[in-house]
Amino acid sequence: MTPAGTPSYAGSGNLGMMLLELQRHDSEIDALEYKKVTLPERVALGNMRDRIHEISHRVNELRAEKDAIRIKQDEMETQVNITVERKKSLEKKLYSGEALSARDLEAMDAEAHNLTNRAEDLQDRQFELMEALEELEAKYGDLEDELDQLSAKSDQLVNAAKSKLSDIDSQLRACRSLRKAAAKHIPNAIRQRYDAIRARAGGTGAAALVEGKCSGCHLAVSPASLSCALAVSDDDGLNICENCGRFLIAG
Ligand SMILES: [Zn+2]
Repeated sequence: MTPAGTPSYAGSGNLGMMLLELQRHDSEIDALEYKKVTLPERVALGNMRDRIHEISHRVNELRAEKDAIRIKQDEMETQVNITVERKKSLEKKLYSGEALSARDLEAMDAEAHNLTNRAEDLQDRQFELMEALEELEAKYGDLEDELDQLSAKSDQLVNAAKSKLSDIDSQLRACRSLRKAAAKHIPNAIRQRYDAIRARAGGTGAAALVEGKCSGCHLAVSPASLSCALAVSDDDGLNICENCGRFLIAG
């Protein structure tokens, strides 16, 4: 955009100043385009998406780990029930009053003892599984909380980015309109050459000669080489910097 108080040379016939004006609009457009792609919210959203992806992956892993533990708990429950039932049935037989040999009694007593130990082992394992599950549930809950927070923050960033992008887009529309007005008075051939220089010279096609230096390449031009540089003129009387090849406009 042309700042307030900046004179416009559009249509003045001063090709050099018109080119510098065009360059000013193009530089502003380039800066705004750069601002769009480097918007801090956009960068932050990219990082956030990586973290969300990482957490989601871990949440899925934890879910699978929790499911595996629940399956083991069910298996363990079945084993406990079987053991308890076997013990009850054994005890029923033991105390039924049925005549049993000393050998049978000894064997049944040993089995009852084994079943008691087995039930205790199974209960210990059930307790370990319960602790492991609680630990996983806590991690799972923390990650889900983090996901919720990231999601809320992501929504805020998206809204902030939308608002900033809309602001930049409106500035771009204004700049492009001014650029169009500045460009229409410059002959096509010059404009094409300017565009070609801009494309190969980092966005600057026309530079001012300031205190003996080309503001495009920042190289000092000695009085002797200045006359040499300025002598490299194209057919339209515009000077070309012989160091960087840009249009060189003496004020
Ligand atoms: Zn130069």
